[in-house]
Amino acid sequence: MDCIFCKIIEGSIPSKKVFENERILAFYDIQPSAPQHVLIIPKKHIPTMNDVQTEDLALIGEIHQAAQQIARDLGIAEAGYRLINNCGKDSGQVVFHIHYHLLGGEKLGALVG
Ligand code: IMP
Repeated sequence: MDCIFCKIIEGSIPSKKVFENERILAFYDIQPSAPQHVLIIPKKHIPTMNDVQTEDLALIGEIHQAAQQIARDLGIAEAGYRLINNCGKDSGQVVFHIHYHLLGGEKLGALVG
């Protein structure tokens, strides 16, 4: 499958990993938008939020738990961080393997208002 994140999972494209288990991988974004910018992805290829099925809900929940762990490991859990999913082209999604941006390490600008 021609998916850059599937290639990162299988190891044919290198990444700087921060978390991994049997179902989830997290690695640093190559073009960081904050001092700490990690991408958290399921190893299962799910293209977008719109494709999440009932059977995937435990996996999506586990991604949130992984985000907690990663934020603690990076030392940003207490100060705060943001977890973002872009869904579809109008949101700016460019990689169609569902992923969550974990951003922190500074006071982030407001998204709305
Ligand atoms: P999107 O706009 O939500 O789809 O975000 C895709 C993200 O993947 C962007 O922030 C890119 O910088 C990041 N990205 C693309 N290719 C790679 C890579 O090979 N390693 C790490 N991050 C990547």
